[in-house]
Amino acid sequence: MSELIKEIENGRILKNNGSWMYCNNCNKTVGYLVYSTYQDFEFNFNCKCGNQGSFKLGYQTGVLVKPSLDKLKMIKNRLCCPNDDSPLFTIVDKNIKKVKYSVICKKCLTKYANG
Ligand SMILES: [Zn+2]
Ligand SMILES: [Zn+2]
Repeated sequence: MSELIKEIENGRILKNNGSWMYCNNCNKTVGYLVYSTYQDFEFNFNCKCGNQGSFKLGYQTGVLVKPSLDKLKMIKNRLCCPNDDSPLFTIVDKNIKKVKYSVICKKCLTKYANG
């Protein structure tokens, strides 16, 4: 197991490596990160309360990542990898104005991002 590298600004996450993500200012949920399926995750949000924050969590392994222009697949509010249906994360749209993310699926090592 490689070490988890984590940087969080103006937010907090319920567990060490995943679960609910909160805005530090209004304490509302902004997203949910699935523990076991990401290799690398970045989430920059603008909360409806005016706060801006970011979450970066990842495992450095030196593996080769394949960038993709494909969209993540929505299955029951969870954004999933379109290659293998790995559940990756959820965005709590009702509490945030804007979000920019990138995620690498651990199973197929494909990287997805919005904008
Ligand atoms: Zn907030
Ligand atoms: Zn995948």
